[in-house]
Amino acid sequence: MEDLIIFDNVTYRYDSDGAALKPAVSNLSLKIKKGEFVAVLGHNGSGKSTLAKLCNAILIPESGRVTVDGTDTADEEKIYDIRRKVGMVFQNPDNQIVATVVEDDVAFGPENLGVEPTEIRRRVDEALKSVGMYEYRLHEPHRLSGGQKQRVAIAGILAMQTDCIVLDEPTAMLDPKGRKEVMQAVKKLNRELSKTVVFITHFMDEAVQADRVIVMNKAEKIMDGTAKEVFSHPERLKALGLDVPAAAGLSHELKKRGIDMPDGILDNESFIEAFERINFEGNNT
Ligand code: ADP
Ligand code: MG
Repeated sequence: MEDLIIFDNVTYRYDSDGAALKPAVSNLSLKIKKGEFVAVLGHNGSGKSTLAKLCNAILIPESGRVTVDGTDTADEEKIYDIRRKVGMVFQNPDNQIVATVVEDDVAFGPENLGVEPTEIRRRVDEALKSVGMYEYRLHEPHRLSGGQKQRVAIAGILAMQTDCIVLDEPTAMLDPKGRKEVMQAVKKLNRELSKTVVFITHFMDEAVQADRVIVMNKAEKIMDGTAKEVFSHPERLKALGLDVPAAAGLSHELKKRGIDMPDGILDNESFIEAFERINFEGNNT
């Protein structure tokens, strides 16, 4: 698979009255492949949002280089090409609504790109269908639930036909139902529309659904691997103050006690399956 976003030794520092601040992202190198679903974890202040904003030229590296499909994000002339390729969805659904009717909201992006009206119509319908919000197209966005609002925001990005969507804690303000709806919509556009997804979250049950997990700590990337690899080190995650998916933590504890659990258990279903297969003969009294 081809790389879409490449961070090459990137450092970024926020300005603050000229004081020498610690970098928010420090010497970060990573590659995100086309079609990949990457989760980014890390506690508050670890640099996740800064990483997100560096992906589509909202922020430009102080040193090092970010490229999107081969284009340097520091190239000011290419900024709209980059934003067209990589769209962002933020945490607060209310801050992302720009219109008073759902379909106008979704049309806002392509309108600004100068897309022709019949093509806009087609894109808006398609985008709303792919996030399951088509039947709400004439509703008022501010009356929707949080999960519905976030799906409208995602549709707005889809309507610009971006290759990649970066979502910065899109579920943090949602109830469990809304979180599920958003996760389902994002998974669908990754699997069915081959969109590249960078999903920042602090919910482990969401992170385990990604192809790959990156863990940030104090401005640095400290873990990067498949969900199975990353969650097979629960001690390391706990030491960083991060949760571990319950099923992964339990399997790890059982293994430590000599019980034969397979590696890479991340969710309850696979935990139960593996547990049922254990031969407890001889262990029973
Ligand atoms: P996260 O999203 O993981 O919580 P951020 O990328 O927002 O982390 O922040 C990384 C570091 O940069 C933190 O120390 C934070 O305080 C600092 N920071 C973030 N945004 C700003 C800003 N606008 N101005 C100054 N410092 C900031
Ligand atoms: Mg953040």
